[in-house]
Amino acid sequence: MDLPTTADVVIIGGGVIGTSIAFHLTRMGCRHVVLCERTRLAAGSTGMSSGLVRMHYDNPLEAELAHKSYPTFAHFDEMVGGECGFVRTGFLRTVRQHNLERLKANVEMLQRLGVKTWLVGPDDIRELAPYLNVDDIPLAAYEPDSGYADPYLTTTGFARAARRKGAHILQGLEVTGIPVRASRVVGVETKAGTIATGTVIIAAGPWGARVAASVGLHLELKLVYHPVVMVETPPQVPHPHLTVIDRLNTIYLRPETGGLTLVGASHDNRVVGPEDLDTYSQTLSPETQFSALERLCNRIPAMEHGRLRKGHAGIITKTADEHALLGPVPGVEGCYAALGFSGHGFKEAPAVGQAMAELVLNGRAQIVDITPLRLTRFAEGRPYHAANEYR
Ligand SMILES: Cc1cc2nc3c(=O)[nH]c(=O)nc-3n(C[C@H](O)[C@H](O)[C@H](O)COP(=O)(O)OP(=O)(O)OC[C@H]3O[C@@H](n4cnc5c(N)ncnc54)[C@H](O)[C@@H]3O)c2cc1C
Repeated sequence: MDLPTTADVVIIGGGVIGTSIAFHLTRMGCRHVVLCERTRLAAGSTGMSSGLVRMHYDNPLEAELAHKSYPTFAHFDEMVGGECGFVRTGFLRTVRQHNLERLKANVEMLQRLGVKTWLVGPDDIRELAPYLNVDDIPLAAYEPDSGYADPYLTTTGFARAARRKGAHILQGLEVTGIPVRASRVVGVETKAGTIATGTVIIAAGPWGARVAASVGLHLELKLVYHPVVMVETPPQVPHPHLTVIDRLNTIYLRPETGGLTLVGASHDNRVVGPEDLDTYSQTLSPETQFSALERLCNRIPAMEHGRLRKGHAGIITKTADEHALLGPVPGVEGCYAALGFSGHGFKEAPAVGQAMAELVLNGRAQIVDITPLRLTRFAEGRPYHAANEYR
């Protein structure tokens, strides 16, 4: 491998976050950007991601990150180049009874941010999607412009665009150490040699805590196994159908290519240890598959004619307040982290990439103020919480 000996910035991790940062750094004129990916692009959480692109959040910060990211998905060819597989299906968000007042407040908050969204009742939903069972939905939030995109195409699209502007995107290159001298990053070590640099961004997804430990940073990142079930959409259900986050059944669903319906089986999430990260099974248990199908049928009764197909599972990385860690690593000048995105990192990646590039190059993120997500917030006793978070 032709390893560059120096770089202005080295990014560790070739998921959607690392490649988006590389894209924005090069777009903003940073010339010597190197991205090191230990296996291949989108090999981590990104490659398993369900790719939902929606803006409904119960806090203004993530809503803004998602809202400011949306144009990149909708106009990927103009803004990045190539295809990201965005499909506009429309999106419905249900909440449990005790969260209905918060739902109303959040839709108002989203409207103030400029998100095209409104509340819908059972009759409106029947009109939008007659195949949905609405008996248990007194009120939901609707976004006509949302849908899903392809995480692999998005990631490789960012990487290709960064490469066109001179970035080195190196696959099969694991970073094994981050040497620090006088509290300052001086490079990254790999099996193929050392790259001298004054700026390192850790975007290593679920492996983030392991990488951060090499600069003496201890991060509490919870790893959550999340199964995704596939069902052949029967002819009784239109395809593509609506994308739905259905908190009443603890699943989400969206159409998938090949006449399938993808079901995020959040009811079967479980915490795993770092030792499982490289070995966890992709094969779903029959219990997971049948319980997901049952929940899907609660929402779309005609899915009883659907047949189960092979699904998969991925790892979601969570912080204590379930929001990302974005910003400088305390005590190590030149070191930054973009980690812990829970189930939100895909749809927020375009704005996160821009925010991190602005922070590194200009000292401050302008697209969205990300300081509430600084790494020191837990030590300061100031986790990020919003007034109308769903419980
Ligand atoms: C099943 C599933 C469904 C999801 N659905 C959605 C969704 O619908 N919408 C949404 O917005 N988000 C969703 N998410 C969350 C989203 O996919 C993640 O937040 C996002 O992909 C994280 O991207 P990342 O680049 O931070 O991490 P990753 O994609 O994990 O990338 C990190 C990369 O770092 C590399 N790496 C690790 N250590 C090293 C090292 N030492 N040296 C070099 N490289 C290294 C890894 O190989 C990996 O490729 C989902 C996640 C999962 C698992």
